[in-house]
Amino acid sequence: MNKIHLKGLLFYVVMTTMLAPQFLKGQSKGNESDRPNIVVILADDLGFGDLGFNGSKQLLTPNLDALAASGIDFEQGYVSAPVCSPSRAGMLTGKNQVEFGFDNNLSTNQMGFDPAYRGLPVSEKTIVEYLGELGYVTGLIGKWHLGYAPQFHPTKRGFDEFWGYLAGGHDYFRSESDGKGYLAPIQCNFKTPGEITYLTDDKGSECVDFVRRHKGEPFFLFASFNAPHTPMQALGKDLELFAHIEDEKRRTYAAMVYRLDVNVGRIVKALETEGLREKTLIVFLSDNGGPVDSNGSCNAPYNGQKGILLEGGVHVPFVISWPGTLPKGKKYQHPVSSLDLAPTFLSLAGGKVSPNMFSGVNLMPFVKKKGHGDKPHESLKWRFTISGAILEDGWKLIRLPDRLPMLYHLPTDMSEQKDLSMENLEKTEELLGKLGQWDVGLPHPLFLEGAEWKKRQLQLYDATYPLEQPVREK
Ligand code: CA
Repeated sequence: MNKIHLKGLLFYVVMTTMLAPQFLKGQSKGNESDRPNIVVILADDLGFGDLGFNGSKQLLTPNLDALAASGIDFEQGYVSAPVCSPSRAGMLTGKNQVEFGFDNNLSTNQMGFDPAYRGLPVSEKTIVEYLGELGYVTGLIGKWHLGYAPQFHPTKRGFDEFWGYLAGGHDYFRSESDGKGYLAPIQCNFKTPGEITYLTDDKGSECVDFVRRHKGEPFFLFASFNAPHTPMQALGKDLELFAHIEDEKRRTYAAMVYRLDVNVGRIVKALETEGLREKTLIVFLSDNGGPVDSNGSCNAPYNGQKGILLEGGVHVPFVISWPGTLPKGKKYQHPVSSLDLAPTFLSLAGGKVSPNMFSGVNLMPFVKKKGHGDKPHESLKWRFTISGAILEDGWKLIRLPDRLPMLYHLPTDMSEQKDLSMENLEKTEELLGKLGQWDVGLPHPLFLEGAEWKKRQLQLYDATYPLEQPVREK
């Protein structure tokens, strides 16, 4: 072969390589076959204690229990906000959402605020966009709740496919073609959606369909269930399973969580059937703690509920399962955050995680170690409207506008029953200082929700919550 022919051959090889699909879709490092599919299954307003693997004696969650047993149960798993939309904004960006002004739940626009900013800021890059650039096909099935204006639409924020609705919740049985709010029609950019049967089942079906259609390429599926968020609506056959529960709201809640569990089982089964289970990392968590007052959930053994920074608002069930790669049946005991998911996913997909790119960290190096090893975080911090909190070395301080700060030592008082702030003034002062320094460095909120929620939030701190599991009723 002469030099000219050799050059021509080299040119051909280089060009065909560069035009190969993986180069056209986005470049990736490392071995393509090592990159897992990623499925995030998000429950909405699920109580920490309402899962078999978290000690429920009343609810039935065999599929979620099996999922937890197949992977790592993060016993100290936290979300970055105690309500839906800021929690989701944090999870999808890997940044604490208050670092970009997403302090509040998404609600009606407040006077003086520009509605063009009422959503996940377009200046923030989502993990979905990162994964798309790395060649992943991405889908959102279910609830969005990160903005209604066109610039915030899921298909503008990285999702190739969207089947769902933009609001914070939806009726489980019906939608209307011109419906608003919880009756809004289902949106879909890849087919004409059928009638709703029971929304949790419909989402499960769409997730199974997504897995089947994309089994041959790396995918990211965000299974965004609204169960067991209000409205309290369940299937008759599921209610019969819990006929022994006297309280109607709790009975309905149990049936809704059961149906969620059934559909988690369908998604896992679809992955197994397609031979993808060991190529797929599944994350399961709830976007915030259970709102004990509205859906009959139970956060035992944690005090508090959705909307506040006591453990019941932000300490959630948190499972990562990837059989064959991650240990199974492991209980991980250092605090982790939903903000850790984006950097973990980006790293697994072959992307580069730079310092200061995320508030969270890539969890893989921490969880692969034997035993418990180093902790991923020095501290976790929260700011939610009128409240703030910091957790460091087991000490948790909560700051509210109308009272002295509260200090709890979680390793000895997980239910936050004994306020130690006055007898540990040095620790109180230290954590208050760290929280305050962080707080004053944050930008202003981009939007607010109604002022009535501020007083409501304080009232939730004064309420009492069940700290023990309800027994199984006859
Ligand atoms: Ca929620």
